[in-house]
Amino acid sequence: MERVEKEASPLYYEEFLFFSGVVHDYVKMCVKERAQAARELLSKLLEKMGVEPGRARALADLMLSVATATEKLSSTELDEAHLKLVVSIVHVADILMGAMRVDEAFSALSTDRAALLLEEVVGVKFGFVKVAVPSLLQAVVSEKVVKALEESGWVQVAVYGDGSIFAGTPSAQRVSLERLAEIAAEEVRKEVCSDAAIKREINAIVEGMERRALGKLLKKLLDTGGRGELPVDVKELKRKRGSVSDIMPHYLNFYHNLVVRYLEGSSADYLLKTFGEVEKHLDVRTFATGYKGKGSVYFEEVAKQRGITKEALLRVLTGLGKVKLLTALSFIVAFYSKDDKVIEEIVEKAFGKRLPRGLPPMLLRLLAVAEVFRNRDRSDLARRVVEALPLPSEPPVGDYAREYVKTRILSNIIESGARELRTPETKHLTYCRVCGMPLYHDHWRFIEYTRVIAEGKGAGGSEIWLSDDPPLADLEDIAESYRHICPLCFYEALKVKDKFGPPFLVVALHPASSPDLLEFAKKRVRILGNVVRAARGAELGVQIGNVAEACRLVAVGERGGNGRTLRLKPEGETYGRVMELLGSHSKEEELLIHDALGARLLIPLSAGGEQDLSLKRKLCSIVLAVAPLALSLVGGGQVALALNLGDSFNVGAGQLPASLPHQPSMLTDVARTFNDIVFRARSEGRDPTPEEYRVYGLVYPALLATLYGFALRVFGWYEGWKEGGRGRHVTVEDYALETMTDMESVPHVPLAISCPPPERLKPRPEERRKGKPGPKERGEGTPLPYSSVLSYLSREVESMISEAKELVEGEKQPSLNRLLYTYAASLKELRKDLSRHKVQNPLRRSINVFLDFKRAIGTEDAKSLAIDEFLKQVRGVTGVNLEDAKKVITEKIGDKEEKKEVPYSAIFFRTISGLLDIVNRASETLPPSKLRVFVERLLDSAYEKYRSTAFEKGG
Ligand SMILES: [Zn+2]
Repeated sequence: MERVEKEASPLYYEEFLFFSGVVHDYVKMCVKERAQAARELLSKLLEKMGVEPGRARALADLMLSVATATEKLSSTELDEAHLKLVVSIVHVADILMGAMRVDEAFSALSTDRAALLLEEVVGVKFGFVKVAVPSLLQAVVSEKVVKALEESGWVQVAVYGDGSIFAGTPSAQRVSLERLAEIAAEEVRKEVCSDAAIKREINAIVEGMERRALGKLLKKLLDTGGRGELPVDVKELKRKRGSVSDIMPHYLNFYHNLVVRYLEGSSADYLLKTFGEVEKHLDVRTFATGYKGKGSVYFEEVAKQRGITKEALLRVLTGLGKVKLLTALSFIVAFYSKDDKVIEEIVEKAFGKRLPRGLPPMLLRLLAVAEVFRNRDRSDLARRVVEALPLPSEPPVGDYAREYVKTRILSNIIESGARELRTPETKHLTYCRVCGMPLYHDHWRFIEYTRVIAEGKGAGGSEIWLSDDPPLADLEDIAESYRHICPLCFYEALKVKDKFGPPFLVVALHPASSPDLLEFAKKRVRILGNVVRAARGAELGVQIGNVAEACRLVAVGERGGNGRTLRLKPEGETYGRVMELLGSHSKEEELLIHDALGARLLIPLSAGGEQDLSLKRKLCSIVLAVAPLALSLVGGGQVALALNLGDSFNVGAGQLPASLPHQPSMLTDVARTFNDIVFRARSEGRDPTPEEYRVYGLVYPALLATLYGFALRVFGWYEGWKEGGRGRHVTVEDYALETMTDMESVPHVPLAISCPPPERLKPRPEERRKGKPGPKERGEGTPLPYSSVLSYLSREVESMISEAKELVEGEKQPSLNRLLYTYAASLKELRKDLSRHKVQNPLRRSINVFLDFKRAIGTEDAKSLAIDEFLKQVRGVTGVNLEDAKKVITEKIGDKEEKKEVPYSAIFFRTISGLLDIVNRASETLPPSKLRVFVERLLDSAYEKYRSTAFEKGG
């Protein structure tokens, strides 16, 4: 080992391995000349790291030997130590990164010679952890699981969508199931039955009561001090029909008086008689138990679900103010259970008072409230009540957590544990109605699940029919006896309510990633929570204008003057600026779900917006707008829209950097062009040439630049568009959807990126004012926001696409961007004050002539006619003789630059000829309606270029 490190010096062993791996991939792809290129590349890289040139060359040679040996697993040049400690590791890393899923990786390892060699010689063992069923809980606890494994000697070495591979030291032990079960249980308890969770529930009760009759009754009692009567018209009460809020005040006075008389010592008979004077009483749900929305909820059930112990309850209650405590205790005592006997027992135990037997349930509860009220000033009130409560035993979260880990996480380095559960406390309760896990306790009812998810707003869960209910069963009845869920599903419902609900924006590093890379991605992607919130129309979060600015910064590097470069990666200073713009609030970390066992990060899209699974296209458009930033921050990978956790596991399909239920044509079009390179090579039965590889490598930047074009049109124009008064309720999402639809209608990606939007999407509020102001006031002198960046992106995408097309089709493509610019600028040089109509007319007329006559007289003749028409029109609108007017241009001849005069007629001739070629090509591939759109957008673009050129010159 020491010797290997010494021979690698000044590199560290790890660095040596890393470079050998890089060069191995390089060499694997191609033949001899690649090896030479790789040697030069390596020497250069090493010299950059400060390695002295001679040493760098020697190291490069050594690494090349390793690279070659890695494929064959043998070498005549390398010694035993290098084969064992370097070649085998690079080989194993190569296998790991080449696998698509964890199963594939593990089975490849278990038969691999190098992996076996490592085990024999160094004692390295391999283990896998596979996620069998995706769940929120698994994702949330995954980091802790990885940590627990590391503490037992297992280091995570590769991450896949569905699990991870670990490498263990010789002393690494299998991890006990209990240990991992406890991690999961702890997380569930935190959400379901911690003090904080109990406090939330008690607060929900108190707040709920303020709106219910019980809270209002208590308020009246506090006002009167429980003495004296309030006016009641019993006859009126009997007659009264109408909404609860209409009749409730009358009932309250009536109930108030009953409580007062009870406190003053009236007999049970008298109370019963008075109570009976009114036939119909308030529903218990209206009175108190409906605090979660529809349906009754007694404290007994809450206590079960929350695992409320006496100590915890007392801790929470003592933190409440006096009135809140009175409200909470009144509910807890009077509405502890549906069973009247239980209420009687609690009151007797807590206050030593025997309530009259055989009362109607409502009257009994009023008297229980009266007893709590009577004792309101006792300092030991809370303690006495809590002691009197027959609270259920603590919920058996641990039992479920153990079963959960056992069934959901499959692994050869986690003990499988005993198959048997602890002896069930109650009779077997079949299975969880959400996830199907066997149930052994009836603590959590299905109705609670729907209640939590719908936040009490939706229909009662008892009304939902589940496919496995007994036929024709009474849903109210089986809600009690049959429909139960497990605590883990209850946990997930609470989490979803807590803004962790689907759908998700998924950032995936698939198929394989290293744990370090995932950690890096996590740190950087975190910021997107802010962007997503803003993009989904949340009031909070970052300003949309800032998102646009961040996109511009990352997409394009500005050099001095007019020079630009495609950047696409935020490094150093740019990264710092982007962070400033997007704001790195630590709070937003909570909006990211990092699944440490799977190679992906999830950002819930429901944050800040409504949850609606049907708006797929709208979601697609917003995910697409956020995608380029996400990809740039992570430095690659794929962004996806997953409608549930299961989907988020399968984002690997397809080659596009964005995987969406609706794939926009601007991405598929670009990808297809580049894929043709590979298809052609394959159809000719050969490997792609180095040149083909190089051009094919442009697919990612081309797609990313296209995505930035879309993002800038959305985020850069939205605010100006909204100011134009397009309705108060329009959101970024609406604008993104409209923009996506619009861009898809333009059948030429570079044009779709840079052409001005149709009137309804224009970001120019001032143009919508009434009256007929001049061009300056109409804002016509100002270019659209980000228009020069968009034209730059458009030109870059066009040039990358044309490289690909040239390779496949063998002929050079004219650049639409350049032709339109030349047209606009030349026209501008001749006349500065042309209207839209006059700028577009020569092009429009010429294209029409071409398309009209092409069929009849053939392409070439139609083209000549169209060119003549064009030149005639240009002469007409400019009033200039194009032969006489000359332009001075500099031309490069060899090494020399030469100034030369060219008549405008020649410039216009070349321009229209190129444009007609493009139109011709479009007319052969597009249906007539799409061709129309294409021509119209082309004309819009020409005018926009004319306009903005004028602006640049003018100011
Ligand atoms: Zn379940």
